[in-house]
Amino acid sequence: MIEWSTAGASLVPLWAGIVITAGGIVLLAAALLVLRRQQATLRRAARLDHLTGLGNRKALEEALHAALEDAQPQRDRIAVLVLDLDKFKEVNDTLGHEKGDVVLCEVARRLHANIFEYDTAARLGGDEFAVVLRNLRAADDVAAVAHRLREAVARPIDIDGVPHFIGASIGAAVFPEHGTTAAVLMRDADATMYRAKRDREGVRVYDAGTTAGASALGMAADLLSAIDGGGIRMAFQPQRSLSTGAVVGVEALARWERSEAPVSPLEFIALAEETGLIRSLTALTLRLSLDEVCTWRSSGVAVPVSVNISARLVTDRSLPLEVAALLAARELPGESLVLEITETALITNRDRAVEVVHGLRALGVRVELDDFGNGYASFGALRDLPLDGLKIDRTLVVDESPGGARLLAATIEKAQDLGLTVVAEGIEDELLLERVRILGCDAAQGYHIGRPMTAEAIRAVLGCALPTSH
Ligand code: C2E
Ligand code: CA
Ligand code: CA
Repeated sequence: MIEWSTAGASLVPLWAGIVITAGGIVLLAAALLVLRRQQATLRRAARLDHLTGLGNRKALEEALHAALEDAQPQRDRIAVLVLDLDKFKEVNDTLGHEKGDVVLCEVARRLHANIFEYDTAARLGGDEFAVVLRNLRAADDVAAVAHRLREAVARPIDIDGVPHFIGASIGAAVFPEHGTTAAVLMRDADATMYRAKRDREGVRVYDAGTTAGASALGMAADLLSAIDGGGIRMAFQPQRSLSTGAVVGVEALARWERSEAPVSPLEFIALAEETGLIRSLTALTLRLSLDEVCTWRSSGVAVPVSVNISARLVTDRSLPLEVAALLAARELPGESLVLEITETALITNRDRAVEVVHGLRALGVRVELDDFGNGYASFGALRDLPLDGLKIDRTLVVDESPGGARLLAATIEKAQDLGLTVVAEGIEDELLLERVRILGCDAAQGYHIGRPMTAEAIRAVLGCALPTSH
């Protein structure tokens, strides 16, 4: 109890001044009250990370102990997330500690803003943070929260008007699946974070060995039969031109229902990537999407479809050949297809990715960089890339801080200087639509314009003539 000894020292004059008289009891009570308050202040201070205002390691461990004490394994799920920044050292080394502190405070603010009041965020030390999540409904929910926190932290951080992409790796462990004590959960979350960082996975949930391994295997088997057996369908989301209001593009998004329950695309795409199923899944999404383009074109609508290409395939030399064959089989011109790639592809093997992108563009296919502003990419890295367009991630579109607004405007301007078209993503209301229109974006996509919808529904939006019923 460090607080006691410190408190005792500073209180000596107070105690010495107490005289036991008739009013002495009152004085004593007042002194005790002061003492208690001082203890509480000191106790709080001992659990505070003074730089960021979050709790420190001690605070986190206490929060975790308290949560576990109340928890019932049949009912409650509690998660520990350990988060380590990816590029903090670079900022600290090149810009100095003061700017490093700005980054740490901003990360702390974003973590705090993205959790509930009953959750706890803390800085463990250096650039390592941790979060305790209570009240999770299922162990699987932790991945979604971890992704959300990572996205929040990955948004560019403005330092003197210059955006810095710091990024983070997160490891998570869940009570009771992965452990029932604070020590075990902390250890597992920490070890998992290092594996996530090593494998550049971003987010990783502790894999308790055979049990989790077996369930992933079962899921992969189900995904394989879904790919082969018609269990994957595409949803279509429109993009509207901000100058004419016309639908100028449609993004195809894969959907999978496993035992009647939809699985998040983030989850099954990651699984497909881990298991090598991503090749056949992408071939399928390309086929389904291009078939749909044929239907649109047969009723006179020549809008291209946008398909997401997983980072792993952008370095695959056979991709342009496969795409060429799919287009030829349907007698479709290259411009009926847009491929969305992410910056991850460019980080892993840049030269190969550039070669593949050249091959695709030679077919007349447009290539756009997806999720810009939600990761590592900077304009310096983009300059010599053969791209046609940029999709600005929702996190950047909605950032209303002065730094965020400046960054958004600068991003749009620079992209257009480089000759890229700009699509703003995640437009959920009229205000955001107006914002990106004023800033000169070419097109917008989001719930306010249209949710991802069925093939029939998008045909109606595009004004395709309905098939005549017999
Ligand atoms: P993405 O490429 O960034 O796709 C856009 C995501 O944003 C979609 O999530 C879409 O439903 C969602 N969205 C659209 N409008 C709004 C909005 O106004 N507000 C918000 N908050 N969200 C909006 P979805 O369908 O869950 O897909 C998630 C991610 O999974 C996609 O992100 C993409 O990276 C991946 N994905 C989906 N389909 C495929 C696919 O066929 N192949 C590959 N490789 N990845 C895919
Ligand atoms: Ca996309
Ligand atoms: Ca996107």
